Amino acid sequence: MNVFLVGMTTPVFMNESNDIEIDKSKNLEDLIGLACDICYNPNNDNTSEVLSSEKKKRVISKTLNEKHMSVYEHVSFTFKITGVTRSLMSQLTRHRIASFSVQSQRYCKLTEPQYLTPESIQKNQLGLEEYTSLMELNWKVYNKLIDKGIPKEDARMVLPNSCLTICIMTMNIRELFHFFKLRMCTHSQWEIQELSVKIFKLVEKTSPLIFKYVNKQCEHEKCFESCGGCVLRHLLNNDNINTKE
Ligand SMILES: Cc1cc2nc3c(=O)[nH]c(=O)nc-3n(C[C@H](O)[C@H](O)[C@H](O)COP(=O)(O)OP(=O)(O)OC[C@H]3O[C@@H](n4cnc5c(N)ncnc54)[C@H](O)[C@@H]3O)c2cc1C
Repeated sequence: MNVFLVGMTTPVFMNESNDIEIDKSKNLEDLIGLACDICYNPNNDNTSEVLSSEKKKRVISKTLNEKHMSVYEHVSFTFKITGVTRSLMSQLTRHRIASFSVQSQRYCKLTEPQYLTPESIQKNQLGLEEYTSLMELNWKVYNKLIDKGIPKEDARMVLPNSCLTICIMTMNIRELFHFFKLRMCTHSQWEIQELSVKIFKLVEKTSPLIFKYVNKQCEHEKCFESCGGCVLRHLLNNDNINTKE
């Protein structure tokens, strides 16, 4: 599995002639700070000036503490995700606030066997043999069907859940918080846990100030699960968790 951050919302400003300019010294915190300021500042005028660094920190902390989460919908991140299973994809696309473009099995011919073997099967010699021979058979039948003129959209019916795929996914920060809470939890399935940890590590770099909220989220939103093994907690304590990197 690979996750690449391929896009994110960046602040722009309009100069006196109404031209749009990108100010590379500003980042997503400035944009969120601007949204917070609209809410809290009675003297807000019609310019798009950003807040001082101190004020920005203050309003960001305030919104996170008070769960004023709508301001976190103004910044989105786009990821390219490769080498994940169709099984993961069916879980990931349940997150309705995100946007997806997924490799099409109707348009793409998947001639070569491309599948994932879970660790539990890799460690079981007999299971591994049976699994591998079934995967090979799946692709053999798929290719035969294609050769016989069966459309790809029908031939794909023999492809397994383990079939690897690629997608582009966009999520805003509010949805990312929600995603991390559900999917970095040990109750989640291992592949999507691994994906969420990788995404977290990428977005955290863009704003440690904002994403440190993820650390407090379960506590803040009163997670009463007593699993004792929260991936989040281990991650943020820099414990050596198995994310299969
Ligand atoms: C451990 C685990 C086990 C799971 N097992 C199963 C399973 O066995 N079967 C299964 O089908 N799914 C299962 N799921 C998927 C789960 O039910 C959700 O579909 C998935 O986690 C997406 O969560 P969400 O709906 O909160 O997120 P999103 O779709 O991203 O929505 C975010 C939030 O927006 C709000 N929202 C979005 N749409 C609506 C709406 N229509 N009405 C009201 N509020 C809305 C909700 O507050 C929601 O939490 C499982 C998930 C986890 C984490």
